[in-house]
Amino acid sequence: MTRLVTGGAGFVGSHLCDSLLNSGKQVICLDNIGSGQYRNIEHHLDKKEFEFINGDVRDDIGKSLSTESVNPDSIDRIYHLASRASPKDFRSHPIEIATTNSQGTYNIFSFANDVDARVLFASTSEIYGDPEVHPQPEWYAGNVDPRGPRSSYQEGKRLGESLAVSFYKEHGLDVRTARLFNTYGPRMRPNDGRVVPTFMFQAVEGRNLTVYGDGTQTRSLLYIADQIHGLRRLMDATGFAGDVVNIGSTAEITINELAKMIIQLTGTRSGITYEPLPENGPPRRRPDISKAVRRLGWKPTIDLDYGLDQTLLYFENQMR
Ligand code: NAD
Ligand code: UDP
Repeated sequence: MTRLVTGGAGFVGSHLCDSLLNSGKQVICLDNIGSGQYRNIEHHLDKKEFEFINGDVRDDIGKSLSTESVNPDSIDRIYHLASRASPKDFRSHPIEIATTNSQGTYNIFSFANDVDARVLFASTSEIYGDPEVHPQPEWYAGNVDPRGPRSSYQEGKRLGESLAVSFYKEHGLDVRTARLFNTYGPRMRPNDGRVVPTFMFQAVEGRNLTVYGDGTQTRSLLYIADQIHGLRRLMDATGFAGDVVNIGSTAEITINELAKMIIQLTGTRSGITYEPLPENGPPRRRPDISKAVRRLGWKPTIDLDYGLDQTLLYFENQMR
């Protein structure tokens, strides 16, 4: 049986493809290479267990699969990750993000229902918006401005969650929703705009790190290997049909602290330049992961020092 990974050429999706292939699974990666990169998956292209389809989840999924003669009924699990995820892209591609997360997610759930596949839907901590509850548990409904600068992504993912619940209730589709919190690691795009690759490239190139606002805002950063374990555990667990789980780190740090860590790690002479906050990013973000710990037996295992070190090694190799 086969796993379909939408967004499989992206940062998270490509690590997921690696992990599934390492476990002996057959993997189809469907990606439009919008924010993904061929180099994330090119090491698999000559494997018979791996199929890459250059397609868009907003188009007919069956038709996209037929271009590579894939039998749709062979697909028994779908990891639905396709969506740009960088705040920089929320500003430049809001319509693409909104339609990917509405029409695209509807298409994937309909397809899964037709072929009777289990789905894992990648939602996000952004559905909590600017949270009034801290840390954020799954029961918290969030605080999102439908007209705000991040709304195409936030409302798109919220609709995705609504569709997940609707397909579960109306058709009994087994769809599990993971709310991913900030995840970092090798294969993020250098110009992605998210904080870890941005700071690392600035540090390595000897430029000042651009901290937005006063740098007292917090994030909780999860290393990619931990994220992949969490996603796979949720997909494989029993008793999660229609359910939702936060997957993230509880080690909350300020952006100032992160900048200082990266300056120290790289040994750069760069300083910090403070710039205005470009969007309505939340001042604090940390997941309540008690549900994942209790019901999935999952918790983060990799500390920030080690994860940043691994990420830096990757970026240094890319720059050679
Ligand atoms: P990414 O941009 O690296 O990967 C997204 C992938 O989806 C890319 O390869 C892109 O080309 C593909 N894609 C986008 N729109 C598509 C479409 N219409 N059709 C087909 N493919 C399309 O981002 P990522 O960080 O790997 O995020 C993956 C998923 O995880 C996203 O759904 C994102 O919302 C979610 N997520 C990620 C984080 C994080 O910190 N990385 C946090 C919360 C949620
Ligand atoms: N940030 C920053 N400088 C940058 C990029 C990001 O200070 O060059 C800040 C951003 O304002 C936010 C945090 O780092 O408070 C995390 O930003 P990111 O874009 O990685 O993800 P977000 O959590 O906002 O979706």
